[in-house]
Amino acid sequence: MTQVRLLPGSLYFNAQEWNRGYAARLAADRLLYTFRANAGLPVGSAKPLGGWEQPENGQRSSELRGHFCGHYLSASAQLAANGDKEAKAKADYMVAELAKCQQRLGGAYLSAFPPTWFDRLERGERVWAPFYTLHKIMAGMLDMYRLTGNQQALDVLERMSAWVDTWTAPKPDGTMQQILAIEFGGIAETLYNLAAITNDDRWARVGDRFQKRSFLNPLAFRRDELRGLHANTHIPQVIAAARRYEISGDTRFHDVVGYFYDEVVGARSYATAGTSNAELWLAPPRRLAAEWKLSANTAECCCAYNMLKLTRHLYSWDPQSAYFDYYERSLLNHRIGTIRPEQGYTQYYLSLTPGVWKTFNTEDQTFWCCTGSGVEEYSKLNDSIYWRDKDGIFVNLFIPSELNWTERGLQLRQETRYPQSQQISLNISAAPSEKMVLRLRIPGWLQSAPTVRINGRTLESSAAPGSYLTLNRVWKKGDRVEMELPMQLHVERMPDDPHTQAFLYGPLVLAGDLGGQGLTQAHIIGPNLRVGAPNVEQFGSALSASNRTPPIADIEIPTFQGSRDPNSWIKPADSPLTFRTTGQRKNVTLVPLNSLFDRRYTVYWAVS
Ligand SMILES: [Zn+2]
Repeated sequence: MTQVRLLPGSLYFNAQEWNRGYAARLAADRLLYTFRANAGLPVGSAKPLGGWEQPENGQRSSELRGHFCGHYLSASAQLAANGDKEAKAKADYMVAELAKCQQRLGGAYLSAFPPTWFDRLERGERVWAPFYTLHKIMAGMLDMYRLTGNQQALDVLERMSAWVDTWTAPKPDGTMQQILAIEFGGIAETLYNLAAITNDDRWARVGDRFQKRSFLNPLAFRRDELRGLHANTHIPQVIAAARRYEISGDTRFHDVVGYFYDEVVGARSYATAGTSNAELWLAPPRRLAAEWKLSANTAECCCAYNMLKLTRHLYSWDPQSAYFDYYERSLLNHRIGTIRPEQGYTQYYLSLTPGVWKTFNTEDQTFWCCTGSGVEEYSKLNDSIYWRDKDGIFVNLFIPSELNWTERGLQLRQETRYPQSQQISLNISAAPSEKMVLRLRIPGWLQSAPTVRINGRTLESSAAPGSYLTLNRVWKKGDRVEMELPMQLHVERMPDDPHTQAFLYGPLVLAGDLGGQGLTQAHIIGPNLRVGAPNVEQFGSALSASNRTPPIADIEIPTFQGSRDPNSWIKPADSPLTFRTTGQRKNVTLVPLNSLFDRRYTVYWAVS
């Protein structure tokens, strides 16, 4: 995180800065409000946050309160690692104040709600997800220690973990398995990380109490029993399994992770790489069209965040370029496309329902789970562009950035306007005196091996799509590697309905721009559900309306007739990355989904 910087002028840099701005606007004392109130400490003149952070206030309160503060610490730690001193100072203050709350609560427990909520969990009474929220706070503390060296955060985390140990230790195994029916986030992953950091196996044993066998066992037998499960409850459990494998070498966990990943990526992901509908996996594997019709709430953003995290684990075990084809697909279409320009507000679902529009959180009255994973995501966009091993580096993502690998003396600058441009240029500004391997990811979506030049001379050999081009030489200051990645228009069909099709240009998912008529701020900022939808009968009863949102007129969703090759009837238009259908009853302009805001759109079309 400290060795890679994004360069200004790209989609990624903008997203990073919009998110930084949103995070900076949230006052520390507002984020701390519910923690202080819960600990009986003065809240001062701070105004509490609303939405899922709402404190006790008559009828309105949120049982998830405090979760966002944890995400916020993780995001701040990442910003700090990236050189943001203000974010660091603010988060240090928050850690110190949270430590005071923890002391006031007895020196171990720390949350924005009372510990009696865990007793409700044990008694099987209704409660939202207390361990989920605890996990966010613990993960925030871990990141503040791991990325910024805040020792107090490690102390707070160890004390919280001791509380978790004390609470879970006496529970019979059957009781714990019942408790795990309620979402508990990635608490085991944080405990495994703590075990690794402190070299204390106690924390790994506490983490093991959070292994939900009814979920993990079928995966171990390579059975996809994901239908009906809440997606973002379970993806973090697989991340925990990945971490369990990494700290123990126990290959059972490795195999569970691999099978799960292949099922979700290969059989349960839409063209954007997003997974889930109405937060669940609603259909059997490879029945995506059937699932897609059940609700407008496809592809929860937290799932995208966590699948990227899981991908990083798998890639570190076996660096296949295909992992980064998926990663890029998600980053470009889902992640970059779900942060609102300037304000930095983010989405809950990236809906793929025809005629939908993007909706975003409010400034301080929302705080969905995805608002939390969002502030984390966009504060770490410098992550995973480059990977390293003993031989050299992998260039996995085409994002304007500077790398300074201090341990090996390699510095390079990646310049590109990708995906607007198909040219990528790597400029070496410092290099070690011995040979070093530079591996360039050759995307699987290319139709043939790309042209690569070193210092202006075209290489005679290249590498096939879906692999790496390995360049092993003594690099010198001033060396320049250039690569061209020609994009093509192509189609992706639903596995269970080949007439339902999405169109892509290279890695970019295209959306039909259906206009912004009738959309107001009230439709765009605040609601997390699409309302007043056309095709309600097609999409069934799950397309429910939020009663706070004004109605909006139905629009006609065009259908297409065309030959199998989309290039014969979808033609480039005047602007870059823009296309237009031809010969249809109603023609449509297609642009990258990630560039459409405040417009109604369609990604999946009925094509005959
Ligand atoms: Zn979420």
